[in-house]
Amino acid sequence: MSEIIVAGAGHGGVTAAMFLADEGHSVTVYEKEAEGSVGLDQKDFLDAAALEYAGIEIPEKFRVPGNAITFVPLEDDVDSVTLPAPPDYENLSVNRREFISYLISLARDRGVEFVYGTGIKGPVMLGSRVAGIETEDGEKIYADLVIDSAGVHSPLRKNLPDFLGIDKEPAYYDILHTYRAYFNRLTGVQAPDTPYNIYVREDGTEGFRWAITEKDRVDVLLARFPEMDYSDVAQGLFAVSEFNPHMDRDITHGGHFADIPVRQPSAVLVADGYAMVGDSAFMTYPVKGSGMAYAIKAGRMLADAVLDDTDGLFNAETLWEYQKTFFKEIGFSASRLAVIKAILPYMTASEINEIFKRGLVSSEELSLLSSGNMPMAKILSAVREKLKIMGDIPEFKGHMGDIIGWMGRLASIEATFPSKYSSESIQKWAVKYNRFFDSIRKPEETAIQA
Ligand SMILES: Cc1cc2nc3c(=O)[nH]c(=O)nc-3n(C[C@H](O)[C@H](O)[C@H](O)COP(=O)(O)OP(=O)(O)OC[C@H]3O[C@@H](n4cnc5c(N)ncnc54)[C@H](O)[C@@H]3O)c2cc1C
Repeated sequence: MSEIIVAGAGHGGVTAAMFLADEGHSVTVYEKEAEGSVGLDQKDFLDAAALEYAGIEIPEKFRVPGNAITFVPLEDDVDSVTLPAPPDYENLSVNRREFISYLISLARDRGVEFVYGTGIKGPVMLGSRVAGIETEDGEKIYADLVIDSAGVHSPLRKNLPDFLGIDKEPAYYDILHTYRAYFNRLTGVQAPDTPYNIYVREDGTEGFRWAITEKDRVDVLLARFPEMDYSDVAQGLFAVSEFNPHMDRDITHGGHFADIPVRQPSAVLVADGYAMVGDSAFMTYPVKGSGMAYAIKAGRMLADAVLDDTDGLFNAETLWEYQKTFFKEIGFSASRLAVIKAILPYMTASEINEIFKRGLVSSEELSLLSSGNMPMAKILSAVREKLKIMGDIPEFKGHMGDIIGWMGRLASIEATFPSKYSSESIQKWAVKYNRFFDSIRKPEETAIQA
């Protein structure tokens, strides 16, 4: 049986760890936070199907009735769009710290060891193989396989040698910077008619804000592509409070900054002795940033590929089975969503307003799009239909034309995904995939990166 390190107690890493330990591997998770402080201090939704896929039991307390989301446009005279609520109890609502503690407890029961308060600085390389991790204290710990589950800013990914061909740094519009805080709900003050409201920002698609009204509190999120500081937070909270007079002033909990990847998954997820899972490989739904479900499913796929490698080689070739399954089941649909997301920074506030005004996007379409399950053909026919309605706005026509062209190029890249392992063809494919996503970036973004 092999020594396996999981770097960071992310959802995918802990999921893989539990199934690997179950089959007798010796698995240790190194986590920088203290025990009990892992995970964000917030509550979020995730799809129950991900846990079912992974074979993880769902505690009933996480199941909630379906929750409808409303998009609130900029101008008062334009109607809001409310998405159909997902079927009851298919969505889970989890206190993030409680949820990751639950996954950790399952892993621990199967024999996984957790080492808390240990920051990881980078990988230990032996030739071209990732042979272990180096901690912030300079200790080198060796293993047969390192699973990178250290989140969007993973120091392992960032410090890999270039020749592995792994995409190390996200671009400007690849990351949403967020601030999340909870406020008491004032009694006797009128709350909005809909409980879960997303506000389109006055500066177009540079970001958005939400306010979710719960029984006794209001959950506020500020999200944008430019970096955020406390003066932006003050401004954002003020704007949200104008629509939500039932929000008290003092923060009861949360009040933290965190980053969400919103881009295509990494082109290459594996190397000799190394595999990435979850946010470290940018595995979120690119239009909305939900990533727990993909991370958990990918964690199970990774565990299965590792268990199939009965010779314990854990090299890029045996781990390629994981990458293949991931792209087939998740990666390609996520990269199509990333193409649609790529158009957002190009849109102006008035275009967004016009879209709402003309009822261009139906609530069903928005719902399907944000579910991550919109097939290529459906996206293309929807885009063509919108062109008919909005064809009189030249900028919009341009954007839709771009999406059609981009989807065609992405489809041809998907078609050349190597089904059999060959280091050369994988590198070639990764260059094509990465160049494509670079080529659709906004020119200003390329300038910010430079
Ligand atoms: C405001 C906000 C709202 C979100 N809403 C949703 C939602 O509704 N639904 C959803 O599914 N997802 C949501 N997400 C996204 C979600 O948080 C991630 O996609 C999800 O957690 C998967 O990431 P992960 O498990 O791979 O990594 P993470 O959850 O980031 O875990 C990484 C772990 O690695 C540890 N770590 C990091 N660096 C080191 C280091 N150097 N050494 C050791 N350990 C390290 C961290 O402490 C952490 O425990 C939201 C994110 C944010 C910020």
